[in-house]
Amino acid sequence: MKPLLLIDVDGVLNPMGHPTPDFRRYRCTIDGEVYTVHLNPRHGRRLLELALATGSELVWATTWEHHANDWIAPRIGLPALPVITMDPAGATPSGHGEMFKTPHVAAYAGRRPFVWFDDQVWAEDEEYLRVDQGLADFLLIHVDPIRGLTSRHLGMAHEWLTLTGFSQGS
Ligand SMILES: [Mg+2]
Repeated sequence: MKPLLLIDVDGVLNPMGHPTPDFRRYRCTIDGEVYTVHLNPRHGRRLLELALATGSELVWATTWEHHANDWIAPRIGLPALPVITMDPAGATPSGHGEMFKTPHVAAYAGRRPFVWFDDQVWAEDEEYLRVDQGLADFLLIHVDPIRGLTSRHLGMAHEWLTLTGFSQGS
């Protein structure tokens, strides 16, 4: 079972803060709405390297859903990735205070180990996954939405996958 690397867009690949020169600005038009995003091509390269090194599979876990494959992936050099759909109507709150995406992530991951990069994962999500879903083999990496994904987060994922033995890379 390949481990999963779950990736959010807003606050992770598209930081909310003032972008550094590594980032380029793009416009995306979805259902007539125009969105501006700042993307760093290094993110795509680093994520692919991490997936290869650990034998993991990259998957979108974002409200962009399939739009991430049209508007985000090609701009940072990622191939089209599988998508976890995030219909808010499909998630019934458990009482642990988890965010709306978390039950969708749990259902998709099943028994597969996963690392999840998101700016909105907190202790409540950890508790929901462990207690309510009975999952043990996961790592939630909280990303500061101002700066977005950094080498530190990628390093944490690599270390966890390696130390737990889930890494299937060389
Ligand atoms: Mg986000």
